[in-house]
Amino acid sequence: MLWSGWGDPAKAAALPAPIRGLLRDMLGVRAPETPAASFGEVRLPVAALSPLVLSELRGIVGADHVRADDDARIRHTRGKSTPDLMRMRAGDGSDAPDAVVLPGSHAEVLELLRACAAHRVAVVPFGGGTSVVGGLVAARQGFAGVVALDLARLNRLVSVDAESMVVEIEPGLRAPQAERLLAGHGLTLGHFPQSFEYATLGGFAAARSSGQASAGYGRFDDMVVGLTVATPRGTLDLGRAPKSAAGPDLRQVILGSEGAFGVITSLRLRVRRAPAERIYEGWRFASFAAGSAALRRLAQDGPLPTVLRLSDETETMIGLARPGEIGGLVADAGCLVIAGFEGSSEVAALRERAAMVLAGLGGVPLGPGPGESWAHGRYSAPYLRDSLLAEGATVETLETAGFWSNLPRLYDAVRLSLHASLGSPLVMCHVSHVYGTGASLYFTVVTAQSGDPLAQWEGAKRSVNEAIVAAGGTISHHHGVGRDHREAYAAEIGDLGVEILRGVKGRLDPEGILNPGVLIAQPPGGRVDA
Ligand SMILES: Cc1cc2nc3c(=O)[nH]c(=O)nc-3n(C[C@H](O)[C@H](O)[C@H](O)COP(=O)(O)OP(=O)(O)OC[C@H]3O[C@@H](n4cnc5c(N)ncnc54)[C@H](O)[C@@H]3O)c2cc1C
Repeated sequence: MLWSGWGDPAKAAALPAPIRGLLRDMLGVRAPETPAASFGEVRLPVAALSPLVLSELRGIVGADHVRADDDARIRHTRGKSTPDLMRMRAGDGSDAPDAVVLPGSHAEVLELLRACAAHRVAVVPFGGGTSVVGGLVAARQGFAGVVALDLARLNRLVSVDAESMVVEIEPGLRAPQAERLLAGHGLTLGHFPQSFEYATLGGFAAARSSGQASAGYGRFDDMVVGLTVATPRGTLDLGRAPKSAAGPDLRQVILGSEGAFGVITSLRLRVRRAPAERIYEGWRFASFAAGSAALRRLAQDGPLPTVLRLSDETETMIGLARPGEIGGLVADAGCLVIAGFEGSSEVAALRERAAMVLAGLGGVPLGPGPGESWAHGRYSAPYLRDSLLAEGATVETLETAGFWSNLPRLYDAVRLSLHASLGSPLVMCHVSHVYGTGASLYFTVVTAQSGDPLAQWEGAKRSVNEAIVAAGGTISHHHGVGRDHREAYAAEIGDLGVEILRGVKGRLDPEGILNPGVLIAQPPGGRVDA
């Protein structure tokens, strides 16, 4: 993973000529005056951990699995939001952990947490490092140091219960490796977020991730039937049946807790049979409203495709939904729907029935071309961000969800807020995940960088968070809370809701060492009262 950008440097994507022209002529983008910092120019804080603590950590996981070198520290600094990348490009490594610790078992994680609590060392659980909400930035104030607890060594497929269609997997396994191992058993999770190449299964659970095929396979939290969690107070083992009426479901307290309550060390996950057939195709709708109505009908009355997304007019015109063709700039292209069907022999019939619904609601079939283009390039768009940043453009994404009846208001509120903050940015949107009761909206924003692009984006982000809350949307459908959405999340759940979370944290992590400042605010130095 590129330390200051996204993904495999060999896959870096140059900007197509029409996009460069559009940036220059329409958005007024100009090349930044200061070049990005090199790896060697990153400024790191002086490592704070005492030799005594380091030697205790080494005693627990082995000397080879505690790293305090610059390379490890830089590669575990923050996540992959645009502000994270801007800071790294500016050489700002101030949030780097003092050391990176790689435990090899649940027992080692428990021991590490006890040692860190005793020495008042903050712990940041680290999966794939792809958080885009500041979920990997610990508040350091009042602590004796910060360690990143990298779960990469916990990467086994532990067991397969083919009868129940449940597998046990360790949290540090990355999504592609998980799919490869499951494919050996004819199985799939069906979880394909855009961060698929790098994110881990533990990160998906901790941040309540949702993949691009969620209409068919469900969100990641739907897949979790059981969890083992290490906390500074001991082990939680949750989930012993597919459904249960035995009180509130404590799995839900851990899902979405983003490392603030404990470290997920094992996951029991529902799996599906790997599909034998896949069909992806495109449909054109005259407007976003007409396309939304068609998606709603499929989500409510079926048949529901495995993948179902709708791009608004701007996103369709730019070609973001067909990454192979970005920059084609097709005017009057309407709004593109991608419908994908995965399964076995039933796929063709499902597709046929869905086609009748889409055509009946005004959709024009575009055939498999756009669907295949989307499927082929589904992980490539993030690579363009680095080129855009280098060019002098800020590009960032944000997302929300709401009930169908409120979706148009939410859509307008986000767009209005971004225009009010940023002048005339390019704002693109797609409906990314659908449910019977509502859907999520995923926005991509491109704007010319001001003299202080970080402050420029942070101001816009604050305003758009407020606009989302005011318009009745949730502050996140799948990116999570981290630090960036903390205030808006508090507004969403209210003071009593925050008190409940504080109570849970105070019980599981009384010293407040786990991801301090992520999910809920806590006083400098930690201690959280139950
Ligand atoms: C280019 C790009 C595209 C993305 N696309 C999507 C998308 O389509 N859908 C989507 O849902 N998200 C997406 N994301 C966001 C991100 O990939 C998800 O939030 C993902 O779930 C994070 O997984 P990770 O393994 O990288 O976790 P990390 O980023 O390492 O961690 C995320 C949070 O969970 C905590 N954590 C990690 N592992 C554990 C554990 N084992 N126990 C306890 N806490 C833990 C961390 O402390 C942190 O707070 C995208 C991000 C990028 C950069």
